[in-house]
Amino acid sequence: MIDRYSRQTLFSRIGEEGQRKLGNSYVVVIGCGALGTIIATSLVRAGVGKVRILDRDFIEYHNLQRQVLFDEDDIRKQLPKAIAAERHLKRVNSSVEIEGIVADVNLTNIGRFTHDADLILDGLDNFETRFLINDVSLKHKIPWVYGGAIASRGMTMNIIPGETPCFRCLVSMVPDPEVVLTCDTAGVISPAPFIVGSLQVAEAMKILIGAKEINRDLIVVDVWKGTFQRVKVTPRKDCPACRGKYEFLDGKFRVRTTSLCAQNAVQVLNSGLRAISFKELAARLQPIAEVSYNEFTLRFTMNGHEVVVFPDGRAIIGNTTDKSLARGLYAKYIGT
Ligand SMILES: [Zn+2]
Repeated sequence: MIDRYSRQTLFSRIGEEGQRKLGNSYVVVIGCGALGTIIATSLVRAGVGKVRILDRDFIEYHNLQRQVLFDEDDIRKQLPKAIAAERHLKRVNSSVEIEGIVADVNLTNIGRFTHDADLILDGLDNFETRFLINDVSLKHKIPWVYGGAIASRGMTMNIIPGETPCFRCLVSMVPDPEVVLTCDTAGVISPAPFIVGSLQVAEAMKILIGAKEINRDLIVVDVWKGTFQRVKVTPRKDCPACRGKYEFLDGKFRVRTTSLCAQNAVQVLNSGLRAISFKELAARLQPIAEVSYNEFTLRFTMNGHEVVVFPDGRAIIGNTTDKSLARGLYAKYIGT
């Protein structure tokens, strides 16, 4: 065997035995942006046996500031993130089975994409899909590592079914759209996702080799302030997911889309949301788009799509019939 892992096996907590376990492991990475690229590159370099990477997006220039697996050539070739990631990583470590899949992960396919995984790593930018991961994890007893980063802050937590509190214990319901900042509205500097993604990989290594030192707290970092906190999360007694009710997997709060083909538009319905405050949404969007609103609708244009938002959270995305693109725009600019 090529001695490519010598520096890692010299680290006594991993050793030869730990390396063998990593080599026999299968990890699914959901979302391949800043977090996902850091996670995927580290797992492949560490010699995890199989890595599946799921993402629905293409690469844009504003991704290159922090998404370490991509380059200008990928953009010229108009490659989806999952495919570009797979191609780059196969050149890094040909002994790892790497599979990039271009897909919008949702309740109809998440089971199929994750059922035989040893571990799921979260590289996502939206809450709805995280709640789906949480349901699938608890239902099929697959641990997952939550991670999120925005502006200069980030957090991560391990969810080990039957052992730790779950993601719904932490965040009881999909947060109000007004409080959900996204990278597309609040910005992000690369050290935030880099450090969170790295922490997630360290936890992944420990979980995969069965180390005892697995972290059971929420870790919160702010790279601008230079602070690092551990927060104890207590299990919620009334948590539906911990009690076997998988409401996101069952579609109770799903974001539904309907093509309005006659209008070349897609309608996005979001039953998980409470009413939207146009004033706050407008304040969030103003730095990046021209926004106008009255008491009935809020309108803005993004990448050539006119978006019309209604007070109940419904939105109509114009100039497309692509439901996944519409859901993506919704998640990025309105929140899920
Ligand atoms: Zn729970």
